[in-house]
Amino acid sequence: MKVSQIVKDISVWQVAEQMIVRGARPPIVIASTNLPRDAVRDMYYSIHGKRPPSGLLPDSSLNVIKKVIHASQATIFYHCYRKVAEADIFKTSPARDVLRGFDFYQKVCGAGCTESIDFSVAWFIARDLRTRNIETKYCPKCGMDYLFSLTNSLLHSCPFCKNLGDKNKKNRAE
Ligand SMILES: [Zn+2]
Repeated sequence: MKVSQIVKDISVWQVAEQMIVRGARPPIVIASTNLPRDAVRDMYYSIHGKRPPSGLLPDSSLNVIKKVIHASQATIFYHCYRKVAEADIFKTSPARDVLRGFDFYQKVCGAGCTESIDFSVAWFIARDLRTRNIETKYCPKCGMDYLFSLTNSLLHSCPFCKNLGDKNKKNRAE
């Protein structure tokens, strides 16, 4: 076996380990690394001391965004991910870039923000951006890009300006 192949294999295992440490479920790790299912599940067990949760994963990040705050956090993750990704995030979504984006998001927003946008959701957002299941739009009010999708009403408009609009309405009512 060539040294370059060994180095490549090691780096794939490192990516899998980093994903699992951040809580990624095995199906996501397998989809990203092509490592064998049993090996990934064993690694999950050795890192977390318990079996991975069973139950279906959402098939899209769109199903997880259920409140305006989720839409805002998802949009912040998108900006963090786009900022640190080395690849073109609309064409490819290597796990390394998602890891970088997720770590940056956590640094910017704090650990509390990862309750709704955890690593698995971040991974789905990255995949949905690549497959154009989610698009991005420019908000002329605040000058920021936001995540947009017709299939989720929370992603029809800029979540930051929506938050402000709701607040202004509330202030006027008081
Ligand atoms: Zn806006």
